[in-house]
Parts: sequence; C-alpha cells; structure tokens
Amino acid sequence: MDSSIGGKTGVNLPEGKNLVGSFYPPRLVLIDPELLRTLSGREFHGGLAEVIKHAIIADAEMFAMLEKDMEKVLRRDREALSFLIPRNVEIKARVVGRDERESGMREILNYGHTFAHALESVTKYRRYQHGEAVAWGMIAAAFLGHELGLTRADDVSRIVALIRRLGALPPWPRVPATALLRAMRSDKKTRSGILRFVLSPRIGEARSYDAVPLHTVERVLHFTPRLITASGKLSRGLRG
Ligand SMILES: [Zn+2]
Repeated sequence: MDSSIGGKTGVNLPEGKNLVGSFYPPRLVLIDPELLRTLSGREFHGGLAEVIKHAIIADAEMFAMLEKDMEKVLRRDREALSFLIPRNVEIKARVVGRDERESGMREILNYGHTFAHALESVTKYRRYQHGEAVAWGMIAAAFLGHELGLTRADDVSRIVALIRRLGALPPWPRVPATALLRAMRSDKKTRSGILRFVLSPRIGEARSYDAVPLHTVERVLHFTPRLITASGKLSRGLRG
C-alpha cells in the first residue's frame, strides 16, 4: 500500500536507510491481499502505520473509518482490507502524481519520517520495524504540530489513540534529545542543515514547514516518550 507505488531507493547503508538507488516508476503493481496473511503481527502493524499516515495527510474520512473499524482491520478481515488497499494505493498514486506538477508535494508522504529515521538510526536499525519507528514518529510530529500552534489537541489525541491501537511499540531509545537531533540533521531529507518537517494542521491535510526552531524539536523529542503513559493514554499535559 506504500512502497509498491512510485519509484523507490531501497538500498540501506550503515549511515542510513534508502541512501542508494534511483527512482524508476514500475510498469505494473501486483497486490495480492492474501499475502498479508503471511506477515507477522509486527510487519502487518507496521504497514498499518503507513496507512494511518495516509489518512492523517490526505484522507480524514479514512481516518474516521479506521477509528471505527480498527478491530476488523487488525483481524485482517478480508472485506476491510479489500477496501483499504485500493484506497491507500490511490492516495499514494495521487500524491506522487501531483508531485510532477507541484514539486514538493510528495514530501508530505514523509509525515513522521524525519523522527522515524532518527529513531532507526540511533538504534542501528535493530530495535524497530520501519512502521514502528514511523508510528512513534507520527506521534512526535503530532506533538510538534501542537507545540507550533498548528495541530489542535483534539487531533493530537485522535492520532495518538489510533496509533496506540496497533499495540505496544518498542520503547523510545534512552538517548538524549541532542543525539536524535544530530541524527535528524544527517538525514538526507533535511536540506542544508535546516530542519524541515511535514506537519498536519488538521487530520486529512499536511504541508511541509521550513525552519522549525531547533529548541521546539528538542523539547518534543524530550517529552514525546514521557507523554505516552503505560496504558497508552495521553498524559495530563496535553489535554484540552
Ligand atoms: Zn515509511
């Protein structure tokens, strides 16, 4: 539902993920939903994190459907998946397609990924499945949007609640926020040392923001693992 659409640079190096490759769009994409049954729970949930990402950046209606039908989706219910797969392929194809005219559009697909790549990098790609890092990254991106006065607390709560339904995530790494910041700045998606972030002003929309203040990012890195309580609920600080 994600990496099958659009060209892909898929070769990882010790320095980071997806650093080698070139963008060749495929002639044909073949998706067999039955194959999803062969995936482990972690892999399947990781894929669903990218589905939630599509909903946050481009499809408020699908977000609401996921809130309503997540149990079915988690059971890998055939009907639920038959609905989700084409819908997600459409979103990805639409965003990638629009990028040809409106350059930078594709960047919104990186929602949560600047954080995710830093988490993957500081844990040497051993702790998280990609989707698990993206799940944490989207929580951090939602908090960052809130800190910048962009994302309403209500939307942040909905985003966190939906992500948490994928189950417990491997814990946030015990490293100082500065170590994560450093990893972000060496990510290929940061341009000339300036931190750019894709943020969602409201569920169903996303845009890229330039020059997000470093100290705000640092604060978000510091409090993200602390704001999610053991039960998966948002702690007091952010409600209302
Ligand atoms: Zn991804």
